[in-house]
Amino acid sequence: MVLEVIFHKMRSFFLPKDLHPLSTDFSMLTYLILLSMVIYYLISKGKSWISKFMRLSKQPTQHFADEDKDRVIVVGSGILGSSIATVLARDGRQVTLVERDLKEPDRIIGELLQPGGCNVLKKLGLGDCLETTDEAQTTTGYLIHDWKTGASVHIPYPTDNNNPSTQQEGKAFRHGKFISSLRTAAMNEANIKVVEGTVQNLIEDNDVVTGVRYKERGNDESKDLHAPLVIVADGGFSKFRKQLHDDKVTVSSHFVGCIMKNCPQAKSQHAELVLSDPNPVLIYKISDEETRVLVDVRSQTLPKNIKEYLLEKTLPTLPEHIAGPFEDGVINERIRSMPCKFLPPSTVRKSGVLMLGDAFNMRHPLTGGGMSVAFNDVAIWRDLLQSIPDLRDYRQLDDAYTVFQNKRKLSHSFVVNVLAQALYELFSADDEHLSRLRDACFEYFKLGGSCVDGPVGLLSVLTPNPFLLVGHFFAVALYSMWLIIKKSGYKIHIGLYKATGTFIKACQVLFPLLWTEIRTIA
Ligand SMILES: Cc1cc2nc3c(=O)[nH]c(=O)nc-3n(C[C@H](O)[C@H](O)[C@H](O)COP(=O)(O)OP(=O)(O)OC[C@H]3O[C@@H](n4cnc5c(N)ncnc54)[C@H](O)[C@@H]3O)c2cc1C
Repeated sequence: MVLEVIFHKMRSFFLPKDLHPLSTDFSMLTYLILLSMVIYYLISKGKSWISKFMRLSKQPTQHFADEDKDRVIVVGSGILGSSIATVLARDGRQVTLVERDLKEPDRIIGELLQPGGCNVLKKLGLGDCLETTDEAQTTTGYLIHDWKTGASVHIPYPTDNNNPSTQQEGKAFRHGKFISSLRTAAMNEANIKVVEGTVQNLIEDNDVVTGVRYKERGNDESKDLHAPLVIVADGGFSKFRKQLHDDKVTVSSHFVGCIMKNCPQAKSQHAELVLSDPNPVLIYKISDEETRVLVDVRSQTLPKNIKEYLLEKTLPTLPEHIAGPFEDGVINERIRSMPCKFLPPSTVRKSGVLMLGDAFNMRHPLTGGGMSVAFNDVAIWRDLLQSIPDLRDYRQLDDAYTVFQNKRKLSHSFVVNVLAQALYELFSADDEHLSRLRDACFEYFKLGGSCVDGPVGLLSVLTPNPFLLVGHFFAVALYSMWLIIKKSGYKIHIGLYKATGTFIKACQVLFPLLWTEIRTIA
Protein backbone atom coordinates (compact mmCIF):
# COMPACT_ATOMS: atom_id res chain seq x y z
CA MET A 1 0.00 0.00 0.00
CA VAL A 2 2.73 2.42 1.03
CA LEU A 3 4.81 1.35 -1.97
CA GLU A 4 1.85 1.98 -4.27
CA VAL A 5 1.48 5.54 -2.95
CA ILE A 6 5.22 6.19 -3.39
CA PHE A 7 5.03 4.72 -6.89
CA HIS A 8 2.14 7.03 -7.91
CA LYS A 9 3.78 10.08 -6.36
CA MET A 10 6.99 9.32 -8.25
CA ARG A 11 5.08 8.74 -11.46
CA SER A 12 3.30 12.09 -11.28
CA PHE A 13 6.57 13.81 -10.33
CA PHE A 14 8.76 12.32 -13.06
CA LEU A 15 6.48 11.79 -16.03
CA PRO A 16 4.46 14.09 -18.31
CA LYS A 17 0.69 13.86 -17.60
CA ASP A 18 -0.39 13.23 -21.21
CA LEU A 19 1.36 9.85 -21.66
CA HIS A 20 -0.62 6.66 -22.27
CA PRO A 21 -1.01 4.83 -18.90
CA LEU A 22 0.80 1.75 -20.27
CA SER A 23 3.79 3.74 -21.50
CA THR A 24 3.95 5.59 -18.18
CA ASP A 25 4.08 2.25 -16.38
CA PHE A 26 6.94 1.09 -18.59
CA SER A 27 8.81 4.37 -18.19
CA MET A 28 8.23 4.20 -14.45
CA LEU A 29 9.64 0.69 -14.41
CA THR A 30 12.76 1.95 -16.21
CA TYR A 31 13.12 4.73 -13.62
CA LEU A 32 12.72 2.25 -10.80
CA ILE A 33 15.33 -0.08 -12.29
CA LEU A 34 17.72 2.84 -12.79
CA LEU A 35 17.03 4.12 -9.30
CA SER A 36 17.70 0.71 -7.74
CA MET A 37 20.93 0.43 -9.74
CA VAL A 38 22.05 3.82 -8.45
CA ILE A 39 21.11 2.85 -4.88
CA TYR A 40 22.94 -0.50 -5.24
CA TYR A 41 26.00 1.31 -6.60
CA LEU A 42 25.97 3.87 -3.77
CA ILE A 43 25.54 1.20 -1.10
CA SER A 44 28.39 -0.91 -2.48
CA LYS A 45 30.62 2.16 -2.91
CA GLY A 46 29.79 3.21 0.65
CA LYS A 47 30.63 -0.28 1.93
CA SER A 48 33.94 -0.30 0.07
CA TRP A 49 34.85 3.19 1.39
CA ILE A 50 34.13 2.08 4.94
CA SER A 51 36.12 -1.14 4.60
CA LYS A 52 38.98 0.77 2.94
CA PHE A 53 38.96 3.26 5.82
CA MET A 54 38.98 0.42 8.40
CA ARG A 55 41.71 -1.44 6.52
CA LEU A 56 44.02 1.52 6.12
CA SER A 57 43.54 2.70 9.68
CA LYS A 58 45.41 -0.46 10.76
CA GLN A 59 49.20 -0.44 10.76
CA PRO A 60 51.50 -3.20 12.04
CA THR A 61 52.51 -2.68 15.66
CA GLN A 62 56.13 -3.55 14.74
CA HIS A 63 57.08 -0.92 12.16
CA PHE A 64 59.40 -1.82 9.32
CA ALA A 65 62.71 0.05 9.31
CA ASP A 66 63.68 2.31 6.39
CA GLU A 67 66.07 -0.28 4.97
CA ASP A 68 63.13 -2.73 4.68
CA LYS A 69 61.05 -0.51 2.40
CA ASP A 70 62.11 -2.51 -0.72
CA ARG A 71 61.72 -6.00 0.73
CA VAL A 72 59.36 -8.43 -0.98
CA ILE A 73 58.65 -12.09 -0.23
CA VAL A 74 57.29 -14.20 -3.10
CA VAL A 75 55.62 -17.49 -2.16
CA GLY A 76 55.95 -20.07 -4.96
CA SER A 77 58.42 -20.12 -7.84
CA GLY A 78 56.02 -21.25 -10.57
CA ILE A 79 54.97 -19.29 -13.64
CA LEU A 80 53.92 -16.14 -11.80
CA GLY A 81 56.23 -16.24 -8.79
CA SER A 82 59.45 -16.73 -10.79
CA SER A 83 58.64 -13.99 -13.29
CA ILE A 84 57.46 -11.37 -10.80
CA ALA A 85 60.47 -12.02 -8.56
CA THR A 86 62.84 -11.38 -11.49
CA VAL A 87 61.23 -8.17 -12.74
CA LEU A 88 60.93 -6.71 -9.23
CA ALA A 89 64.57 -7.55 -8.46
CA ARG A 90 65.60 -5.81 -11.68
CA ASP A 91 63.66 -2.76 -10.45
CA GLY A 92 65.85 -2.71 -7.35
CA ARG A 93 63.65 -4.59 -4.84
CA GLN A 94 65.19 -7.07 -2.39
CA VAL A 95 63.27 -10.27 -3.12
CA THR A 96 63.13 -13.55 -1.20
CA LEU A 97 61.59 -16.30 -3.31
CA VAL A 98 60.36 -19.30 -1.32
CA GLU A 99 59.65 -22.46 -3.31
CA ARG A 100 58.82 -25.80 -1.73
CA ASP A 101 60.50 -27.90 -4.46
CA LEU A 102 63.18 -26.58 -6.78
CA LYS A 103 63.45 -29.80 -8.80
CA GLU A 104 62.25 -29.54 -12.40
CA PRO A 105 58.49 -30.08 -12.07
CA ASP A 106 56.88 -32.89 -14.03
CA ARG A 107 53.33 -31.72 -14.65
CA ILE A 108 50.87 -31.66 -17.54
CA ILE A 109 49.91 -28.01 -17.07
CA GLY A 110 51.15 -24.84 -18.80
CA GLU A 111 52.73 -26.22 -21.95
CA LEU A 112 51.37 -23.92 -24.67
CA LEU A 113 52.02 -20.20 -24.42
CA GLN A 114 49.80 -18.09 -26.67
CA PRO A 115 51.44 -15.40 -28.87
CA GLY A 116 50.03 -12.67 -26.57
CA GLY A 117 51.81 -14.35 -23.65
CA CYS A 118 55.08 -14.68 -25.63
CA ASN A 119 54.95 -10.97 -26.51
CA VAL A 120 54.41 -9.83 -22.93
CA LEU A 121 57.15 -12.18 -21.71
CA LYS A 122 59.54 -10.40 -24.11
CA LYS A 123 58.35 -7.02 -22.82
CA LEU A 124 59.15 -8.19 -19.30
CA GLY A 125 62.71 -8.89 -20.46
CA LEU A 126 62.19 -12.65 -20.06
CA GLY A 127 61.93 -13.61 -23.74
CA ASP A 128 65.24 -15.49 -23.42
CA CYS A 129 63.50 -18.07 -21.21
CA LEU A 130 61.60 -19.26 -24.28
CA GLU A 131 64.82 -19.53 -26.26
CA THR A 132 66.62 -21.42 -23.51
CA THR A 133 63.74 -23.87 -23.02
CA ASP A 134 65.03 -27.11 -24.59
CA GLU A 135 63.30 -27.99 -27.85
CA ALA A 136 60.45 -25.46 -27.46
CA GLN A 137 58.19 -25.76 -30.51
CA THR A 138 56.80 -22.87 -32.52
CA THR A 139 53.04 -22.87 -33.08
CA THR A 140 51.40 -20.69 -35.69
CA GLY A 141 47.75 -21.64 -35.25
CA TYR A 142 45.18 -24.35 -34.68
CA LEU A 143 43.50 -26.99 -36.74
CA ILE A 144 40.04 -27.89 -35.44
CA HIS A 145 38.57 -31.26 -36.40
CA ASP A 146 34.88 -31.98 -36.11
CA TRP A 147 34.58 -35.66 -35.30
CA LYS A 148 30.92 -35.93 -36.38
CA THR A 149 31.39 -34.64 -39.94
CA GLY A 150 35.09 -35.39 -40.40
CA ALA A 151 35.60 -31.76 -41.51
CA SER A 152 38.50 -29.56 -40.38
CA VAL A 153 38.94 -25.83 -40.16
CA HIS A 154 42.22 -23.91 -40.16
CA ILE A 155 42.64 -21.12 -37.58
CA PRO A 156 45.97 -19.38 -38.18
CA TYR A 157 47.31 -16.90 -35.64
CA PRO A 158 47.09 -13.28 -36.88
CA THR A 159 50.00 -11.56 -38.58
CA ASP A 160 52.17 -8.99 -36.84
CA ASN A 161 50.60 -5.49 -37.10
CA ASN A 162 53.98 -3.86 -37.65
CA ASN A 163 55.10 -6.45 -40.13
CA PRO A 164 52.15 -7.99 -42.01
CA SER A 165 54.31 -10.64 -43.69
CA THR A 166 55.23 -12.14 -40.28
CA GLN A 167 52.82 -14.42 -38.48
CA GLN A 168 52.52 -14.21 -34.72
CA GLU A 169 53.88 -17.25 -32.91
CA GLY A 170 53.12 -19.17 -29.78
CA LYS A 171 55.45 -21.66 -28.11
CA ALA A 172 54.84 -25.17 -26.78
CA PHE A 173 57.26 -26.93 -24.44
CA ARG A 174 57.65 -29.27 -21.53
CA HIS A 175 56.26 -27.34 -18.56
CA GLY A 176 59.18 -28.37 -16.34
CA LYS A 177 61.78 -27.09 -18.83
CA PHE A 178 60.10 -23.69 -19.05
CA ILE A 179 59.77 -23.37 -15.27
CA SER A 180 63.47 -24.24 -14.95
CA SER A 181 64.37 -21.44 -17.41
CA LEU A 182 62.24 -18.95 -15.47
CA ARG A 183 63.82 -20.05 -12.18
CA THR A 184 67.33 -19.78 -13.61
CA ALA A 185 66.55 -16.20 -14.68
CA ALA A 186 65.43 -15.46 -11.11
CA MET A 187 68.46 -17.12 -9.53
CA ASN A 188 70.78 -15.06 -11.75
CA GLU A 189 69.52 -11.83 -10.17
CA ALA A 190 71.77 -10.52 -7.41
CA ASN A 191 68.77 -9.04 -5.57
CA ILE A 192 66.98 -12.38 -5.23
CA LYS A 193 67.52 -14.87 -2.48
CA VAL A 194 65.97 -18.23 -3.34
CA VAL A 195 64.94 -20.44 -0.43
CA GLU A 196 63.83 -24.04 -0.89
CA GLY A 197 61.16 -24.39 1.74
CA THR A 198 57.44 -24.69 2.34
CA VAL A 199 55.52 -21.69 3.57
CA GLN A 200 53.24 -22.76 6.39
CA ASN A 201 51.59 -19.53 7.48
CA LEU A 202 51.21 -15.90 6.61
CA ILE A 203 52.25 -13.84 9.61
CA GLU A 204 49.78 -11.09 10.52
CA ASP A 205 50.26 -8.13 12.83
CA ASN A 206 47.16 -6.04 13.58
CA ASP A 207 45.39 -7.44 10.48
CA VAL A 208 48.34 -6.59 8.22
CA VAL A 209 50.40 -9.36 6.60
CA THR A 210 54.00 -8.75 7.60
CA GLY A 211 55.76 -11.97 6.60
CA VAL A 212 55.71 -15.74 6.31
CA ARG A 213 56.57 -18.71 8.49
CA TYR A 214 58.30 -21.49 6.56
CA LYS A 215 60.22 -24.72 6.95
CA GLU A 216 63.35 -25.14 4.92
CA ARG A 217 63.60 -28.42 2.98
CA GLY A 218 65.21 -31.10 5.13
CA ASN A 219 64.94 -29.03 8.29
CA ASP A 220 62.10 -29.35 10.81
CA GLU A 221 62.60 -25.98 12.40
CA SER A 222 60.17 -23.21 11.41
CA LYS A 223 61.62 -19.83 10.52
CA ASP A 224 60.06 -16.40 10.13
CA LEU A 225 60.72 -13.96 7.33
CA HIS A 226 59.40 -10.39 7.33
CA ALA A 227 58.74 -7.88 4.54
CA PRO A 228 56.23 -5.08 3.93
CA LEU A 229 54.94 -6.88 0.82
CA VAL A 230 54.20 -10.61 0.51
CA ILE A 231 53.16 -11.88 -2.93
CA VAL A 232 51.34 -15.20 -2.68
CA ALA A 233 51.61 -17.21 -5.93
CA ASP A 234 51.21 -20.77 -4.67
CA GLY A 235 49.15 -21.96 -7.63
CA GLY A 236 45.89 -23.78 -8.26
CA PHE A 237 45.96 -25.81 -5.03
CA SER A 238 46.67 -22.68 -2.97
CA LYS A 239 46.85 -23.20 0.76
CA PHE A 240 46.38 -19.52 1.57
CA ARG A 241 43.37 -18.78 -0.63
CA LYS A 242 40.86 -19.50 2.14
CA GLN A 243 42.65 -17.12 4.49
CA LEU A 244 42.47 -14.25 1.99
CA HIS A 245 39.14 -14.51 0.16
CA ASP A 246 36.00 -16.60 0.18
CA ASP A 247 35.35 -17.21 -3.52
CA LYS A 248 34.69 -20.86 -4.28
CA VAL A 249 36.69 -22.95 -6.73
CA THR A 250 34.60 -25.20 -8.97
CA VAL A 251 35.86 -28.24 -10.86
CA SER A 252 34.09 -28.78 -14.18
CA SER A 253 36.18 -31.62 -15.56
CA HIS A 254 39.61 -33.26 -15.63
CA PHE A 255 42.30 -33.13 -18.26
CA VAL A 256 43.79 -36.56 -18.70
CA GLY A 257 47.05 -36.52 -20.59
CA CYS A 258 49.93 -38.56 -21.86
CA ILE A 259 52.82 -38.21 -24.26
CA MET A 260 52.52 -39.47 -27.83
CA LYS A 261 55.84 -40.37 -29.47
CA ASN A 262 56.59 -39.22 -33.02
CA CYS A 263 52.99 -38.24 -33.76
CA PRO A 264 52.65 -36.62 -37.23
CA GLN A 265 51.09 -33.15 -37.44
CA ALA A 266 48.19 -32.66 -39.84
CA LYS A 267 49.60 -29.19 -40.44
CA SER A 268 53.14 -28.29 -39.49
CA GLN A 269 53.52 -26.02 -36.41
CA HIS A 270 49.83 -26.28 -35.55
CA ALA A 271 48.06 -27.33 -32.38
CA GLU A 272 45.01 -29.52 -33.00
CA LEU A 273 41.65 -29.59 -31.30
CA VAL A 274 39.28 -32.49 -31.89
CA LEU A 275 35.64 -31.77 -31.17
CA SER A 276 35.03 -35.36 -30.28
CA ASP A 277 32.14 -36.90 -28.46
CA PRO A 278 31.72 -36.72 -25.51
CA ASN A 279 34.62 -34.30 -24.92
CA PRO A 280 37.21 -32.12 -26.65
CA VAL A 281 40.78 -33.39 -27.13
CA LEU A 282 43.76 -31.05 -27.35
CA ILE A 283 47.01 -31.98 -29.09
CA TYR A 284 50.28 -30.09 -29.49
CA LYS A 285 53.92 -30.90 -30.07
CA ILE A 286 56.08 -30.04 -27.04
CA SER A 287 59.49 -31.28 -28.21
CA ASP A 288 61.05 -32.68 -31.38
CA GLU A 289 59.69 -36.15 -30.64
CA GLU A 290 56.94 -35.66 -28.08
CA THR A 291 53.36 -34.56 -28.55
CA ARG A 292 51.09 -33.81 -25.62
CA VAL A 293 47.53 -35.05 -25.80
CA LEU A 294 44.97 -33.83 -23.27
CA VAL A 295 41.54 -35.44 -23.15
CA ASP A 296 38.84 -33.58 -21.29
CA VAL A 297 36.76 -35.88 -19.10
CA ARG A 298 33.68 -34.07 -17.91
CA SER A 299 33.21 -35.33 -14.38
CA GLN A 300 34.13 -34.44 -10.83
CA THR A 301 35.91 -37.77 -10.43
CA LEU A 302 37.77 -39.84 -12.99
CA PRO A 303 36.55 -43.20 -14.30
CA LYS A 304 38.18 -46.05 -12.36
CA ASN A 305 39.98 -47.59 -15.35
CA ILE A 306 41.12 -44.51 -17.20
CA LYS A 307 43.18 -46.41 -19.83
CA GLU A 308 40.12 -48.44 -20.76
CA TYR A 309 38.01 -45.27 -20.93
CA LEU A 310 40.51 -43.57 -23.27
CA LEU A 311 40.78 -46.59 -25.55
CA GLU A 312 37.05 -47.22 -25.69
CA LYS A 313 35.59 -43.71 -25.73
CA THR A 314 38.28 -41.39 -27.09
CA LEU A 315 40.34 -43.47 -29.52
CA PRO A 316 37.49 -44.11 -32.02
CA THR A 317 36.82 -40.36 -32.30
CA LEU A 318 40.36 -39.33 -33.24
CA PRO A 319 41.58 -38.52 -36.77
CA GLU A 320 43.62 -41.26 -38.41
CA HIS A 321 47.04 -39.62 -38.04
CA ILE A 322 46.59 -39.32 -34.27
CA ALA A 323 44.87 -42.63 -33.50
CA GLY A 324 47.98 -44.88 -33.69
CA PRO A 325 50.31 -42.72 -31.56
CA PHE A 326 47.44 -42.13 -29.13
CA GLU A 327 46.86 -45.85 -28.65
CA ASP A 328 50.60 -46.42 -28.11
CA GLY A 329 50.78 -43.49 -25.69
CA VAL A 330 47.83 -44.68 -23.61
CA ILE A 331 49.17 -48.22 -23.40
CA ASN A 332 52.86 -47.47 -22.86
CA GLU A 333 53.20 -44.01 -21.31
CA ARG A 334 52.30 -42.65 -17.91
CA ILE A 335 48.75 -41.30 -17.75
CA ARG A 336 48.43 -38.07 -15.78
CA SER A 337 45.39 -36.06 -14.77
CA MET A 338 44.65 -32.58 -13.48
CA PRO A 339 41.36 -31.00 -12.41
CA CYS A 340 40.14 -28.15 -14.62
CA LYS A 341 39.06 -25.44 -12.22
CA PHE A 342 37.20 -22.20 -12.40
CA LEU A 343 37.84 -19.40 -9.94
CA PRO A 344 36.53 -15.99 -10.99
CA PRO A 345 38.84 -13.08 -10.20
CA SER A 346 38.53 -12.56 -6.47
CA THR A 347 39.24 -9.51 -4.37
CA VAL A 348 41.98 -9.80 -1.81
CA ARG A 349 42.00 -6.62 0.24
CA LYS A 350 44.40 -7.02 3.07
CA SER A 351 47.31 -4.70 3.66
CA GLY A 352 50.75 -6.19 3.07
CA VAL A 353 49.71 -8.98 0.72
CA LEU A 354 48.93 -9.62 -2.95
CA MET A 355 47.53 -12.91 -4.15
CA LEU A 356 48.20 -13.56 -7.84
CA GLY A 357 48.32 -16.32 -10.45
CA ASP A 358 46.10 -19.41 -10.18
CA ALA A 359 45.66 -18.85 -6.46
CA PHE A 360 43.64 -15.76 -7.36
CA ASN A 361 41.97 -16.50 -10.71
CA MET A 362 41.58 -19.68 -12.81
CA ARG A 363 39.72 -20.64 -15.94
CA HIS A 364 39.32 -23.84 -17.98
CA PRO A 365 42.65 -24.72 -19.66
CA LEU A 366 41.03 -25.54 -23.04
CA THR A 367 42.17 -22.23 -24.59
CA GLY A 368 45.63 -22.31 -22.98
CA GLY A 369 45.42 -18.79 -21.57
CA GLY A 370 46.51 -19.18 -17.93
CA MET A 371 50.19 -18.35 -18.37
CA SER A 372 49.36 -15.38 -20.62
CA VAL A 373 47.12 -14.02 -17.86
CA ALA A 374 49.90 -14.52 -15.30
CA PHE A 375 52.54 -12.69 -17.39
CA ASN A 376 50.15 -9.84 -18.23
CA ASP A 377 49.32 -9.46 -14.53
CA VAL A 378 53.04 -9.32 -13.75
CA ALA A 379 53.46 -6.58 -16.38
CA ILE A 380 50.69 -4.48 -14.79
CA TRP A 381 52.15 -4.88 -11.29
CA ARG A 382 55.66 -4.06 -12.48
CA ASP A 383 54.40 -0.71 -13.84
CA LEU A 384 52.27 0.00 -10.76
CA LEU A 385 55.04 -0.82 -8.28
CA GLN A 386 57.53 1.33 -10.16
CA SER A 387 55.57 4.34 -8.94
CA ILE A 388 55.52 3.14 -5.29
CA PRO A 389 59.06 3.71 -3.96
CA ASP A 390 58.18 2.70 -0.39
CA LEU A 391 56.37 -0.63 0.02
CA ARG A 392 55.32 0.35 3.55
CA ASP A 393 52.88 2.79 1.96
CA TYR A 394 49.76 0.63 2.28
CA ARG A 395 47.48 3.40 0.99
CA GLN A 396 49.33 3.60 -2.33
CA LEU A 397 49.35 -0.19 -2.62
CA ASP A 398 45.62 -0.28 -1.94
CA ASP A 399 44.95 2.28 -4.68
CA ALA A 400 47.22 0.36 -7.05
CA TYR A 401 45.18 -2.78 -6.37
CA THR A 402 42.02 -1.03 -7.59
CA VAL A 403 43.82 0.08 -10.77
CA PHE A 404 45.10 -3.48 -11.26
CA GLN A 405 41.64 -5.06 -10.96
CA ASN A 406 40.17 -2.71 -13.55
CA LYS A 407 43.12 -2.60 -15.93
CA ARG A 408 43.58 -6.37 -16.22
CA LYS A 409 39.96 -6.80 -17.29
CA LEU A 410 40.32 -4.50 -20.26
CA SER A 411 43.80 -5.64 -21.21
CA HIS A 412 43.46 -9.45 -21.04
CA SER A 413 41.78 -11.29 -18.15
CA PHE A 414 38.11 -10.64 -18.98
CA VAL A 415 38.52 -12.16 -22.43
CA VAL A 416 40.70 -15.10 -21.40
CA ASN A 417 38.42 -16.04 -18.48
CA VAL A 418 35.09 -15.68 -20.26
CA LEU A 419 36.28 -17.17 -23.56
CA ALA A 420 37.74 -20.25 -21.86
CA GLN A 421 34.61 -20.97 -19.84
CA ALA A 422 32.15 -20.20 -22.65
CA LEU A 423 34.04 -22.19 -25.31
CA TYR A 424 34.37 -25.09 -22.92
CA GLU A 425 30.59 -25.11 -22.35
CA LEU A 426 30.01 -25.21 -26.12
CA PHE A 427 32.74 -27.70 -27.02
CA SER A 428 31.78 -30.17 -24.29
CA ALA A 429 28.09 -29.80 -25.14
CA ASP A 430 25.91 -31.95 -22.94
CA ASP A 431 22.48 -30.88 -24.21
CA GLU A 432 20.83 -30.27 -27.58
CA HIS A 433 21.05 -26.45 -27.44
CA LEU A 434 24.74 -26.50 -26.60
CA SER A 435 25.35 -29.06 -29.38
CA ARG A 436 23.68 -26.70 -31.85
CA LEU A 437 25.81 -23.84 -30.60
CA ARG A 438 28.96 -25.97 -30.94
CA ASP A 439 28.03 -26.91 -34.53
CA ALA A 440 27.25 -23.28 -35.34
CA CYS A 441 30.57 -22.20 -33.88
CA PHE A 442 32.39 -24.64 -36.18
CA GLU A 443 30.36 -23.44 -39.19
CA TYR A 444 31.06 -19.83 -38.18
CA PHE A 445 34.82 -20.51 -38.30
CA LYS A 446 34.34 -22.06 -41.73
CA LEU A 447 33.01 -18.71 -43.02
CA GLY A 448 36.60 -17.40 -42.67
CA GLY A 449 37.53 -13.69 -42.81
CA SER A 450 36.56 -11.78 -39.68
CA CYS A 451 34.74 -14.88 -38.36
CA VAL A 452 38.20 -16.39 -37.83
CA ASP A 453 40.37 -13.28 -37.40
CA GLY A 454 38.23 -11.90 -34.55
CA PRO A 455 38.01 -15.09 -32.45
CA VAL A 456 41.67 -16.02 -32.98
CA GLY A 457 42.73 -12.53 -31.92
CA LEU A 458 40.90 -13.21 -28.64
CA LEU A 459 42.23 -16.76 -28.23
CA SER A 460 45.83 -15.77 -28.90
CA VAL A 461 45.50 -12.91 -26.35
CA LEU A 462 46.71 -10.49 -29.05
CA THR A 463 43.48 -8.45 -29.26
CA PRO A 464 41.64 -9.37 -26.05
CA ASN A 465 38.84 -6.84 -26.37
CA PRO A 466 35.79 -7.72 -24.19
CA PHE A 467 33.32 -6.07 -26.61
CA LEU A 468 34.73 -8.09 -29.50
CA LEU A 469 34.24 -11.25 -27.44
CA VAL A 470 30.60 -10.47 -26.64
CA GLY A 471 30.01 -9.48 -30.28
CA HIS A 472 31.38 -12.74 -31.69
CA PHE A 473 29.58 -14.80 -29.07
CA PHE A 474 26.22 -13.35 -30.07
CA ALA A 475 27.12 -13.58 -33.76
CA VAL A 476 27.58 -17.35 -33.24
CA ALA A 477 24.28 -17.53 -31.31
CA LEU A 478 22.41 -15.69 -34.10
CA TYR A 479 24.12 -17.78 -36.77
CA SER A 480 23.00 -20.86 -34.89
CA MET A 481 19.39 -19.57 -34.93
CA TRP A 482 19.64 -18.93 -38.65
CA LEU A 483 20.99 -22.47 -39.30
CA ILE A 484 18.19 -24.02 -37.23
CA ILE A 485 15.48 -22.04 -39.00
CA LYS A 486 16.98 -22.78 -42.44
CA LYS A 487 17.08 -26.49 -41.67
CA SER A 488 13.49 -26.56 -40.40
CA GLY A 489 12.13 -25.90 -43.94
CA TYR A 490 8.35 -25.60 -43.97
CA LYS A 491 8.13 -26.48 -40.23
CA ILE A 492 9.28 -22.97 -39.50
CA HIS A 493 7.30 -22.72 -36.23
CA ILE A 494 9.31 -25.66 -34.83
CA GLY A 495 12.52 -24.07 -36.10
CA LEU A 496 11.63 -20.77 -34.41
CA TYR A 497 10.88 -22.58 -31.17
CA LYS A 498 14.21 -24.46 -31.20
CA ALA A 499 16.14 -21.35 -32.27
CA THR A 500 14.68 -19.34 -29.39
CA GLY A 501 15.64 -22.10 -26.94
CA THR A 502 19.20 -22.10 -28.29
CA PHE A 503 19.46 -18.33 -28.03
CA ILE A 504 18.21 -18.44 -24.42
CA LYS A 505 20.82 -21.13 -23.68
CA ALA A 506 23.54 -18.91 -25.17
CA CYS A 507 22.45 -16.12 -22.80
CA GLN A 508 22.46 -18.56 -19.89
CA VAL A 509 26.07 -19.45 -20.69
CA LEU A 510 27.33 -15.91 -21.22
CA PHE A 511 25.55 -13.67 -18.71
CA PRO A 512 26.63 -15.41 -15.48
CA LEU A 513 30.21 -15.35 -16.77
CA LEU A 514 29.98 -11.65 -17.56
CA TRP A 515 28.72 -11.06 -14.04
CA THR A 516 31.73 -12.82 -12.50
CA GLU A 517 33.89 -10.19 -14.19
CA ILE A 518 31.69 -7.13 -13.75
CA ARG A 519 31.16 -7.66 -10.01
CA THR A 520 34.86 -7.00 -9.30
CA ILE A 521 35.07 -3.72 -11.22
CA ALA A 522 36.16 -1.31 -8.54
C1 LIG B 1 45.55 -29.27 -17.03
C2 LIG B 1 46.02 -27.86 -17.22
C3 LIG B 1 46.61 -27.49 -18.41
C4 LIG B 1 47.02 -26.17 -18.60
N1 LIG B 1 47.56 -25.82 -19.80
C5 LIG B 1 47.92 -24.53 -20.02
C6 LIG B 1 48.47 -24.13 -21.26
O1 LIG B 1 48.68 -24.94 -22.16
N2 LIG B 1 48.78 -22.83 -21.43
C7 LIG B 1 48.59 -21.90 -20.45
O2 LIG B 1 48.89 -20.73 -20.65
N3 LIG B 1 48.08 -22.26 -19.25
C8 LIG B 1 47.76 -23.54 -19.01
N4 LIG B 1 47.26 -23.90 -17.80
C9 LIG B 1 47.18 -22.89 -16.73
C10 LIG B 1 48.59 -22.59 -16.19
O3 LIG B 1 49.31 -23.77 -15.97
C11 LIG B 1 48.50 -21.79 -14.90
O4 LIG B 1 47.68 -20.66 -15.14
C12 LIG B 1 49.86 -21.33 -14.39
O5 LIG B 1 50.71 -22.42 -14.19
C13 LIG B 1 49.65 -20.56 -13.07
O6 LIG B 1 50.87 -20.18 -12.54
P1 LIG B 1 51.06 -19.97 -10.96
O7 LIG B 1 52.42 -19.37 -10.81
O8 LIG B 1 49.91 -19.27 -10.38
O9 LIG B 1 51.04 -21.44 -10.35
P2 LIG B 1 52.11 -22.60 -10.52
O10 LIG B 1 52.82 -22.47 -11.81
O11 LIG B 1 51.38 -23.85 -10.22
O12 LIG B 1 53.18 -22.32 -9.36
C14 LIG B 1 52.89 -22.45 -7.99
C15 LIG B 1 54.22 -22.72 -7.28
O13 LIG B 1 54.03 -22.54 -5.89
C16 LIG B 1 54.73 -23.58 -5.21
N5 LIG B 1 54.11 -23.73 -3.89
C17 LIG B 1 52.86 -24.14 -3.61
N6 LIG B 1 52.61 -24.08 -2.29
C18 LIG B 1 53.76 -23.62 -1.71
C19 LIG B 1 54.13 -23.36 -0.37
N7 LIG B 1 53.28 -23.54 0.66
N8 LIG B 1 55.37 -22.89 -0.13
C20 LIG B 1 56.26 -22.68 -1.15
N9 LIG B 1 55.95 -22.92 -2.43
C21 LIG B 1 54.71 -23.38 -2.72
C22 LIG B 1 54.56 -24.80 -6.11
O14 LIG B 1 55.54 -25.78 -5.86
C23 LIG B 1 54.72 -24.15 -7.48
O15 LIG B 1 56.06 -24.15 -7.92
C24 LIG B 1 46.84 -25.21 -17.57
C25 LIG B 1 46.23 -25.59 -16.37
C26 LIG B 1 45.82 -26.90 -16.19
C27 LIG B 1 45.15 -27.27 -14.90
